[in-house]
Amino acid sequence: MQPAPRLDVQNLTCAFAGRTVLRDVSLTVAPGEVMCLLGPSGCGKTTTLRIIAGIERQSSGTVRVDGRTLADGDLNLPPEARGVGLIFQDFALFPHLSVAQNVAFGLSGTRSDKARRVDELLARVDLKGYGDKAPHMLSGGEQQRVALARALAPRPGVMLMDEPFSGLDNRLRDGIRDETLELLKEEGTAVVLVTHEPEEAMRMADQIALMRGGRIVQQGAPYNIYNAPCDRDAAAFFSDVNVISGTVKGALTDTAFGQFLAPGHPDGTEVDIIFRPQHVKIDFDRGGRGPNPTPLDGVPARGIVERARFMGHESLVEFRMDFNNQILKATVPAVFLPKPGMALWLTIRRDRCFVFAKRPDTTTGR
Ligand code: ATP
Repeated sequence: MQPAPRLDVQNLTCAFAGRTVLRDVSLTVAPGEVMCLLGPSGCGKTTTLRIIAGIERQSSGTVRVDGRTLADGDLNLPPEARGVGLIFQDFALFPHLSVAQNVAFGLSGTRSDKARRVDELLARVDLKGYGDKAPHMLSGGEQQRVALARALAPRPGVMLMDEPFSGLDNRLRDGIRDETLELLKEEGTAVVLVTHEPEEAMRMADQIALMRGGRIVQQGAPYNIYNAPCDRDAAAFFSDVNVISGTVKGALTDTAFGQFLAPGHPDGTEVDIIFRPQHVKIDFDRGGRGPNPTPLDGVPARGIVERARFMGHESLVEFRMDFNNQILKATVPAVFLPKPGMALWLTIRRDRCFVFAKRPDTTTGR
């Protein structure tokens, strides 16, 4: 049985000066669950977060935490009455307060209760003994951990985070991200995290809400969103994609890579077949499909290497295909960096392709 949602947001709509920027946004987050709002700049992620926090007012829709209404058509509780924690990219510690005073800022109770909670939290974020320091004496990563301790101190049921790790360098970021998540999960906090980076969303989220133009276009576990995108843009948001075209006949589409199933598309429909560079296999000859070729591998098609880039853990190779002169991209283990002009055979995993009715624009890429 699904646990009751801690955060329940229903049908949020928001307009600024007559321009609708959020349409019918609904999401639920269970205790200890992380929901990532993911989407391109301007799609409405931060506005959603600000409405949940009570900093912005929705035009319609409701926000509830543990069944308690925080905002609806009549009611609009102020941010401080919502029991919701906030961490933004610019986490702004109070510079004139010590680390301990920063963490204690939102706490009520006796002095000793507060001191106990501050000590407990500083230990949890690995900053035991830092209480008397001033924020400027801390590194960026340490300051971020103080901000986390401060946001967690009053035990909010819901934590809202807007690109909270983007100010940190890569090396610090992974560690802090994982520690932060662990802490929030242990506390049973429902988390809404805004990001425009698909890798960050996949790494952190239990659920992703993919947004575009003020709407949630797809919602689900990262695995499902990546492997069963709702449309071409959703597929392309997570990686480069290749697009080949075809026409449906008898629920199948014939291509240079073999036949593809096109369920649900009537005969005569022009379709785009989308696949990621990771799902292209490369061989030196047409028959070289290894000892156990599967029917899913399809038919090999020849391409000439146009460009190959070494990316560290893999190489990205662009091919000009013989069958129609179009460019297709493939990633290969970085031990292999083919030279431009080399002829190679490509096969694609047909079970990893997505078939969508064609759009007028057929450019490849993000
Ligand atoms: P980013 O990733 O760039 O932060 P976002 O997805 O968080 O983008 P929002 O900040 O929610 O997007 O903005 C959504 C739309 O609403 C944008 O077109 C933005 O210009 C507009 N908008 C946001 N806040 C206001 C405001 N206070 N007044 C007018 N328009 C606003």
